[in-house]
Amino acid sequence: MTRTRPGDATPSSPGTAGPAGIPHTRPHPGLGPDGPGLPTEYRVYRWGWAPHGLATRRQLRAEGLRPNGQEPRAEIRWRRGRRVAYLYAVADAAPKRIATPAQLVALGEAMRVRRTCPVCGRDVGYCLPRRWGTCLDCHDTPSWRSAA
Ligand SMILES: [Zn+2]
Repeated sequence: MTRTRPGDATPSSPGTAGPAGIPHTRPHPGLGPDGPGLPTEYRVYRWGWAPHGLATRRQLRAEGLRPNGQEPRAEIRWRRGRRVAYLYAVADAAPKRIATPAQLVALGEAMRVRRTCPVCGRDVGYCLPRRWGTCLDCHDTPSWRSAA
C-alpha cells in the first residue's frame, strides 16, 4: 500500500545565481584563504573593490609594467556587468623597461593625481573615469558639486 504525499511533487529549486551572474565578492584584505596574499581563485569584483596587488593591464602599463605572460587573476565588472577589465598580479608583473628612480617617482605621482578626485579630494584608489573627471561617488551624488 502506497501513500501519495500531497504537495511533494515539485522539489525546491536549487540556489541559482542572480540573472546577472555576478557574485558580489568583497575583497578581504589579509583574510584570504592564503593569508595576506591574494585570493587564489578567480574572482569578479565590482568597480573600485579590487584588492591592492591587482591591476589592470592599463594600470600596469602606467606603472611601467607588463603582465609578463601571466593569466588574469580576477576581473572588474561595471555598468551592470557589461564592461569588464581583467586584473593581473602586480607582484608577478615584469618591468617594461628600466626606469630611473626619478621616473618611478613621477609615475607614482602621476598615478596618484589620476586617482585623486578633484571634487572630494580623496585618493579613491582607482583611476578616475576620464569622462567624468570625478570619483564614482561624486558622480553618483551631484549634491557634492552643487553644494556651493
Ligand atoms: Zn569624489
